[in-house]
Amino acid sequence: MRDPIPFNVPFRTGTEHRYLEQVLGGRGYGGDGPFARRCQTFLQDWLKVPRAWLTTSCTAALEMAAMLLSLEPGDEVLVPSFTFVATASAFMRAGARPVFVEVDEATMTMDVEDARRRITPRTRAIVPIHYAGIACDILALRELARAHNLVLIEDAAQGLDAWLHGQPLGTFGSLATFSFHETKNLHCGLGGALVTTEEHWIDRADALWQRGTDRTRMLKGMADRYTWIEVGSSFYPTELQAAFLLDQLEHVTQSTTARAQAWNRYAQRLAPGAAEGRWRLQDVAPGQRGNHHCFYLLLPDAAQRESLRVHLQAQQIAAYVHYVPLHSSPMGLRLGWRADDLPRTEDLANRLLRLPLWAGLPASTADRVVDAIDAWSP
Ligand SMILES: *Cc1c(COP(=O)(O)O)cnc(C)c1O
Repeated sequence: MRDPIPFNVPFRTGTEHRYLEQVLGGRGYGGDGPFARRCQTFLQDWLKVPRAWLTTSCTAALEMAAMLLSLEPGDEVLVPSFTFVATASAFMRAGARPVFVEVDEATMTMDVEDARRRITPRTRAIVPIHYAGIACDILALRELARAHNLVLIEDAAQGLDAWLHGQPLGTFGSLATFSFHETKNLHCGLGGALVTTEEHWIDRADALWQRGTDRTRMLKGMADRYTWIEVGSSFYPTELQAAFLLDQLEHVTQSTTARAQAWNRYAQRLAPGAAEGRWRLQDVAPGQRGNHHCFYLLLPDAAQRESLRVHLQAQQIAAYVHYVPLHSSPMGLRLGWRADDLPRTEDLANRLLRLPLWAGLPASTADRVVDAIDAWSP
């Protein structure tokens, strides 16, 4: 039996210990320290946004974004059904009802026309994701949000160092969230960030981030003590995580480039099968520069997807299914949705298969995966 091929190997620069040792040699571990600030400054400079807040996860960043909206019972938030649970649950925790939207086949992201149809007088926000590090139709969604006076929040968990027409993902909406979970391109074990392109969110977000206090004003010398001003929470990571993350952020291009090598190998070798109609590959339209977060195939039907997944598993190759649609999950059904409410999402999710991918995946490993796929017949 040949060595198993894992699905993911968390990115390591090999130099994370340098900043970690500085934390260990100092006296501040708790968070909101120099390394958190350096990570935030890095993100602000990289994205050219006025403010970034480091969080314990992308889930926490989405929860902060949801709290900023001051939602009321009955308010609705448009989210794709094909996403990670936090895209929906963060807004539910803040009192809103998630309204699930279909995805389009080219990018597996929010379908603009379906989003338009689902807007009601109670809709408050649109929260698309950028699947696999390729932009959704964010310009059309931004127009839609503007026309209906809705807040556009990008769940850019998979979108760092991905670009559309030269503009980084996470800077098209009013707010955006990133993930630094170990399965993402950059990480600190588990972490995230909230960013905003609009100054008017900053004071309240500062207060939420500081557990609902005006501590940020005190740190800026605008008050001599800090006190409770609203209901916030504990959102920021420790300095240990921030130190690890800063080193990773400083290697962002290295991570993307290394993933690109494996991604391009798959794309090149799987193109003939796509031309023959054996599967469909991710669409990379003009103007898109992805970050190679994941590589997937869309098989012609659910049975073939399962057959290929089992075939690869038998050869010790971890190919994953992703995501189980939210509207037809046990929670979605409890909210009153039925699987056939979003037939296209249901169909596409059943046909998608993700291949192993990480920064530094050797060409020989990519070849072994493709050889195994070539040897498969449905
Ligand atoms: C990974 C991911 C999340 C959650 O990120 P965490 O940092 O693990 O909370 C949310 N949304 C999307 C689209 C993701 O891919």
